[in-house]
Amino acid sequence: MDNLHPDSRAVHPPVVDVPATSRPVGTPIYQTHIFTFDDSDDLANTFHGPPEGRGYVYSRYGNPTVQAFGQAVAEMEGGVAALTAGSGMGAVSGVLLALLQSGDHVVAQRCLYGGTMSLLGDLTERWGVTVDHVSGNDPEEVRAALRPETRLLILETIANPTTQVADLPALAAVAREAGVTVLVDNTFATPLLCRPLEHGVDIVLHSATKYLGGHADVIAGVAVFADTELHERVWKRMIDLGSVLDPHSAHLLLRGLATLPLRMRRQGDNAQALAERLARHPAVTHVAYPGLPDHPQHELAGRLLDGGYGGVLSFELAGGREAGRVLVEALRLVSLAPSLGDVRTLAMHPASTSHNMLDAAALAAAGISESTVRLSVGIEHPDDLWADLEQALTKVS
Ligand SMILES: *Cc1c(COP(=O)(O)O)cnc(C)c1O
Repeated sequence: MDNLHPDSRAVHPPVVDVPATSRPVGTPIYQTHIFTFDDSDDLANTFHGPPEGRGYVYSRYGNPTVQAFGQAVAEMEGGVAALTAGSGMGAVSGVLLALLQSGDHVVAQRCLYGGTMSLLGDLTERWGVTVDHVSGNDPEEVRAALRPETRLLILETIANPTTQVADLPALAAVAREAGVTVLVDNTFATPLLCRPLEHGVDIVLHSATKYLGGHADVIAGVAVFADTELHERVWKRMIDLGSVLDPHSAHLLLRGLATLPLRMRRQGDNAQALAERLARHPAVTHVAYPGLPDHPQHELAGRLLDGGYGGVLSFELAGGREAGRVLVEALRLVSLAPSLGDVRTLAMHPASTSHNMLDAAALAAAGISESTVRLSVGIEHPDDLWADLEQALTKVS
């Protein structure tokens, strides 16, 4: 409409169409929660499934900027489609609540992410789901745990903070034989190091908050599916649960993704160099990093991960619980902070922070010692990182 009064023009700025002859290079931020239609049938159709082939109507159901991020990760993982969420736990809870009901049984790796464990605990206590835990290394242990009512096997490619690498091909094969869906949290490996769907896994998910974003400025999750039936089922549950990724965050994630291959290579190289130097330091009693020959899954990691062993390592100190705390507080370049996957190096002492409710025995059950320090290695110069670690290690030597 032309000749609008200023009052109306203020509410209805002109729609600026980009001609097909020139397209934006960056993905535009579609900061709109609704889309408008000429035809009511077209509008109605968009409510009945994921935006693939249907278009957009309401950004909880789908949004083009968010879709661009999801599709990029889906292609990197080799899946048919993705669903995004407002956090990694949004993706975890969406998948679990879509696929499980009362009476179902889950087989889960023992040292899953704390939030996933907590959700499984709630599903057990209040929703009548039963869970059995397995090590993640032994296909026969998984076979023995399977029951007729088992619906889901849940694994993590690289576990936290033990850096245990799960034998995805062998474990997924056992579950597939029994018709059990396999879900893998691939946050620590990213699709650069491992693509679980290539190993027979059905759903792979990420806390995109970590490596995919990479700059500690966004909270997001994404799940990628090997088939469209699973994708549609989970989409339906996730739009009801409403853990939605917003277009601004999707834009930050797209920016982060562009440098993911460079960051992963640098973070892997830095982590390898620090792991080797830490292993030789007299104050350090043990280093857990899949790139070290003494890591229990070093050989498996070599086959499963390509282009490096990831950016996370953990190590133990001769000085025990107090030494772990003193060390992380003495670091200057490295930040004492939770989380991982940032371009900056982050350190944590689980026994005095995330796991401070656990005594030595409970820590050991979680694969952690009282002195364990976790390092999420960033992209700084490795010599500066080592100089910082070395000066902090003098305080506990
Ligand atoms: C951080 C994390 C999550 C949860 O992600 P949020 O984005 O914090 O909700 C899930 N799995 C793993 C392995 C994580 O590290």
